[in-house]
Amino acid sequence: MPKNQYAENYSDFLHCFSKKKRLRYLVRNIVIYPLSLKTHKISTSEWIRFPYYHYVFNDERRGFKRQLLLMRNMGEFISLDNAVELLREQRKIGGRYFCITFDDGFKNVATNAWPILSELGCPAAVFVATDYIGSDIQRDQALLTRFYATTGYPMPIEFLSWDDCRQLLKIGATIGSHTCSHLRMSALSPEAVQEQLRKSKEAIETELGIVCRHFSAPWGRPSQDFRQESDPILAREMGYSSFLTSERGLNFQGQSPYHIRRDQLRAGWSNYQLRYFFSRNN
Ligand SMILES: [Zn+2]
Repeated sequence: MPKNQYAENYSDFLHCFSKKKRLRYLVRNIVIYPLSLKTHKISTSEWIRFPYYHYVFNDERRGFKRQLLLMRNMGEFISLDNAVELLREQRKIGGRYFCITFDDGFKNVATNAWPILSELGCPAAVFVATDYIGSDIQRDQALLTRFYATTGYPMPIEFLSWDDCRQLLKIGATIGSHTCSHLRMSALSPEAVQEQLRKSKEAIETELGIVCRHFSAPWGRPSQDFRQESDPILAREMGYSSFLTSERGLNFQGQSPYHIRRDQLRAGWSNYQLRYFFSRNN
C-alpha cells in the first residue's frame, strides 16, 4: 500500500502492520475470549464510562453501530458537557452513562462515525490535535510523517479540515483540544505544556468561534505520558473544565473532572471484547 495514500479500510491498515504486531493482536483476541466469559458481569452501580476511539474505517461502520447498540443496552449516552457537570457538581450520578469521545481528529469520524451517532441520537466529543487539522498528505509530508512515526500508525489516515469541524459542531459535536503537535507532555517543560494547552485552545476558539472547554492528553497514561500532579492543574489554570486520560475504568460520584478515565476501543472489536473491557476496573 503506497504511503501517500490514506487508509480507508481497517483491513488495509492492519495489513501494513508488521507480522509480529498482527500476531500479537490475534493472540490477544484469542486470550480475551475465555476471559470475557468469566468476567462478563457489568457493574450495576452508578457510573460514567468514557469509551474512546481514534478512527472508524469504512469496513468498521457496522461494528461501530453494533458496539453503540450494546452500550445502549447497558446505560444512556450523555454529552461531555453533561458528564463533566455531573462529576463537578459531586451529586449522585443517578444512573449508568456512556460519553463517547474520539482522539486526534480524523476525517472518518465525520464521514463514518457521525452518521451512526446521529441515527442513534448519541452525543460525542472529538479531541483535535490542531497542527494537523486541514493537513494534506502531499503538501504537509514532513509534518504528517512526524505524527505517523510517533503514533506508530502504519498508514496515513486523513485528518479533518476546519470546515469539517465547523460542520460537526453544527450537528452537535463537542470539539476539544488534544494539544497542537501531539507531543508527549511528560517530555516537555511546564512552559512548553502551557504553550500546547494555550495555542490549541486559541486555534479552536478562533477557527470555530466557541469556548474550548475540554482537553485530552496525547496517549494519556498518567505519569508516563503526562505529569499527573501538575499537567491537569496547568489545564485548569488555562481555562479547561476537564482533563481526559487513557487510564481504563469507571468514573464515580465525587471524582475529579481533571482525571477522567477512559476505555480505548476499536470499532471492529466483537461484543465479547467490549464486555471484557467493560467488566474490568469496576
Ligand atoms: Zn492522540
